[in-house]
Amino acid sequence: MDFKKNQEVIVEIQDLGKDGEGIGHFDGYALFVKEALPGEKVRVKIMKTKKNYGFARLVEILEPSPDRVEPACKVARQCGGCTLQHLSYEGQLRYKQKKVLDCLTRIGGTDLSAAVVNPILGMDNPWNYRNKAQFPVRADKDGNPTTGFYASRTHSVIPMTNCAIQDPISNEIVAKIVSFMKREGVLAYDEEKHSGLVRHIFVRKAFSTGEIMVCLVINGAFRGFMESYGEALTSVLRDIDGVVSILVNVNRERTNVILGTHTKVLWGKDTITDAIGEIKYQISAQSFYQVNPPQTLRLYQTALDFADVKPGETVWDMYCGIGTITLFLAAAVGGSGQVLGVEIVPEAVENARTNAALNQLTNVEFFCGAAEEVVGSEMVRDKVGPAGMKADVVVVDPPRKGCDGVLLDTILAMKPKRIVYVSCDPATLARDVKVLAEGAHGTKYEVKKVQACDMFPQGGHVETVVLMSKSEHPRCTQP
Ligand code: SAH
Repeated sequence: MDFKKNQEVIVEIQDLGKDGEGIGHFDGYALFVKEALPGEKVRVKIMKTKKNYGFARLVEILEPSPDRVEPACKVARQCGGCTLQHLSYEGQLRYKQKKVLDCLTRIGGTDLSAAVVNPILGMDNPWNYRNKAQFPVRADKDGNPTTGFYASRTHSVIPMTNCAIQDPISNEIVAKIVSFMKREGVLAYDEEKHSGLVRHIFVRKAFSTGEIMVCLVINGAFRGFMESYGEALTSVLRDIDGVVSILVNVNRERTNVILGTHTKVLWGKDTITDAIGEIKYQISAQSFYQVNPPQTLRLYQTALDFADVKPGETVWDMYCGIGTITLFLAAAVGGSGQVLGVEIVPEAVENARTNAALNQLTNVEFFCGAAEEVVGSEMVRDKVGPAGMKADVVVVDPPRKGCDGVLLDTILAMKPKRIVYVSCDPATLARDVKVLAEGAHGTKYEVKKVQACDMFPQGGHVETVVLMSKSEHPRCTQP
């Protein structure tokens, strides 16, 4: 296609991409248009062209979508966080449901005609739901520390302290830390020069107990920070209702990763305690923990419901984090059953073990390492015997890149009756479902139930739980 930069064309938007951008076609050529919605006819200006696709800027909406709404947040356009605020919440849910089903059928080649596909679980109030905030701290043009959000695909910080999807307390805490930095002359981090001190402010709140953790990520030594600012910072934060943990994390690398490997306590505890349903959890700064508490309960209840475990069964929970799903399963299989969890982050495994004890669940065992290396290994078999290679039910909840191929093969060799896949990326979910459906070791699996759950209102991501059961008549016959 012979496009010129700055050329204007009129396109109809058909779909949304993974970052919430509209996708339209012009003579078979795909154009990505930020902020355009499916069903809209728009005039766009071509900005960048590649061989088969291009990026265009929205100039005028000729026919708006009935789902278009005014974003609630003033910086929604620039901020890279909420990519779908201009789409009504109902429209967001419809889009996410479609995304999940499209991925499963198109990428996964899944026939869903015999599966139970439930409507997506949405929120009644899709605002102020986040329990975790990670604000970058940078200097503004006058050298004053400021916080906000990265503009989409960049590292420039848009000043903002009133995020509409965060719990309001995190906005308040951040404002207090910034004024403390100004008062004490604490320098914000400069990414280009790799100088300055405070890189990020991390706040996590346990919604059920009200406990709050505040962690400053610094480009400097803990001891120096503590001696210079420890007392003053503690006195700013410790009287805020709920704050029980003030931490400093040292990250001196030139990296996009927010947290460094060392965290020290400035004041209070090194964890906060939350509860999901009946189960209590201690959570460290480094551990993964779902960000949307009301939806998390619904997500885990769905996983538990799909797992349908019976007393006495053996269950593996892969990518188990701090043992969230593991402990729900452990309560369900009872004392005669056994649940085995595997997780790669040592702090999370430590939390998981403490959490099992905190809930008096003794039928669980946690292994630290990569699931693809640990599961089925001799070390595990030595420790737990046949359960090292056998399970009635397997639950997986991997990060966005999905499950490692070696792990999928091991799961097939374990021949569980059911596999429950909890996924935060429908494309990798679909890819892995295909592998499990094709099968190996004489076993293959069929998708029986699908439940999408909206963990990230206003953003483009969607969480899904899929139940796969062992096929009754396996066609695979390899030994
Ligand atoms: N099930 C947990 C955690 C899910 S997030 C919960 O719901 O809270 C995914 C988890 O996988 C993270 O804790 C991450 O640290 C872990 N992880 C990432 N790669 C891994 C691997 N190769 N093996 C085991 N765990 C891994």
